[in-house]
Amino acid sequence: MIRATTFAGKRIAVFGLGGSGQATVASLLAGGALVSAWDDGEKSREAVARAGVPLVDLRSVDWSMIDALVLAPGVPLTHPAPHWSVLAAQAAGVEVIGDIEIFCRERRATAPGSPFIAITGTNGKSTTTALIAHVLRAAGHDVQMGGNIGVPVLSLDPPAPVAGGQPKAHDAPVAGGQPKAHDAPVAGGQPKAHEKSRIHVIEMSSFQIDLTPSLAPTIGVLLNLSPDHLDRHGPADDAALAMRNYAAIKERLVAAADVALVGVDDDQCADILKRRLALGPVAPFSARRPLKPGYCEHDGWLICSDATGLAVKLATTAGIATLRGSHNVQNALAAIAAVREWHAIDGRQAVVDWQAALASYPGLPHRMEQVGRAGKVIFINDSKATNADSTEKALASWDRDIYWIAGGKPKEGGIRPLAPYFGRIAKAYLIGVASDDFAATLDGHVDYVRCGTIAAALNAAAADAALSSGAEPVVLLSPACASYDQFRSFEHRGDVFRDLVRAMPGMTDGVPPA
Ligand code: ADP
Repeated sequence: MIRATTFAGKRIAVFGLGGSGQATVASLLAGGALVSAWDDGEKSREAVARAGVPLVDLRSVDWSMIDALVLAPGVPLTHPAPHWSVLAAQAAGVEVIGDIEIFCRERRATAPGSPFIAITGTNGKSTTTALIAHVLRAAGHDVQMGGNIGVPVLSLDPPAPVAGGQPKAHDAPVAGGQPKAHDAPVAGGQPKAHEKSRIHVIEMSSFQIDLTPSLAPTIGVLLNLSPDHLDRHGPADDAALAMRNYAAIKERLVAAADVALVGVDDDQCADILKRRLALGPVAPFSARRPLKPGYCEHDGWLICSDATGLAVKLATTAGIATLRGSHNVQNALAAIAAVREWHAIDGRQAVVDWQAALASYPGLPHRMEQVGRAGKVIFINDSKATNADSTEKALASWDRDIYWIAGGKPKEGGIRPLAPYFGRIAKAYLIGVASDDFAATLDGHVDYVRCGTIAAALNAAAADAALSSGAEPVVLLSPACASYDQFRSFEHRGDVFRDLVRAMPGMTDGVPPA
């Protein structure tokens, strides 16, 4: 646990007592703060009261006596309307921050310069965060991974002081094409043993960035930007303004980073890169076009090129079951760039076998997770795909023979944007409330059947896929819908699917060993 010593003796209000709120209370108490904690939900309050959390109804406190409000990221700060606790704090001039701000202050006070990689973007945050953590562990480091990925940052081990002072970012050869000491030959080669560093790898949502005014990571990674959560970032009747606000929040993560890594495959991020170039070291990455200098794909290889076009081949994602699809090329480029650029500023002579590190990435549950194989048929749990955008990434990963399980609580627009991929679908198996809507879209284009439940859909899809003449038919749960009509969450839906698959006769394990 990280003790919030910079808050010692201060009176801190904490609102929102989920996982990160509870870890915040524990960290503040351990650091010597006086804590008043509250949540609107009676059940949440009862649960934490048993654990000894000091509950105080924040509606009745004298806010002039409070030094800071620590808000859970799920609680509205600005839109659709600030939460009542935010209004109360602001009326009294009390700062409103989040748990990652506490981490940043603690790092600055006790271990300035300790390595801290922060990751954001609209899509791919968790995958890239987990991949960076995996590559760093493969290179021998003590990795503390948390934030939006589900582990509260304050529950991690604290930042460790850096021996020999702070490395200087501007001395680093950013995005150089020459092989560096830490690039192992692509084919073969073992990472060499070297001194171990503790490094924090933290996934951040826009809500968390908004609550972290002093955010200044060693490496800041911005993957991509597209409209998302706009109801939380601007007025309901002005989507353009909400998008500008959302992008400005995301930009802050790279603006103050020692080294900024920016994905340039969308216009907003390309603009952010231009602004950041004036501020300090930056390395762009792209899964779609060549970059000089930068990290990109060439002939199936992930490469790093310098300004003259001199490039070094680093690895390929081809054939890695946990990194299927072009979206994962973007994630893998970001992950390699983050580790490589950090090694450059750290001046380490550690050798990383990028290919071996990617190939051993175990993947994350519910994101294109291979949960079984029966003969040549593979079974994929992509329950995290709760909208058409995410399902598009899954459908784009196979050219044909997709036995697609879809449906649930529909989102606006349904599956109409997926029409370009309909030719890849052998048959669709519809579940949940969206069945009629999806059937209407598929009618005349894709063979489909209404199955009602996920169990019926799986049985039908598995039986049909087994008869396919294709080389590797895929039974794909990628619902393009929220789960709440039949499940508690997308995790619950994916867990049910995984259990059902594993209970089927003749099923072997998920991902074959790399
Ligand atoms: P996040 O944490 O940002 O929600 P995840 O890594 O959990 O992202 O991936 C969720 C889904 O988003 C994946 O199942 C995939 O459909 C899609 N996705 C992942 N990476 C990318 C990317 N780089 N670009 C676009 N979509 C992506």
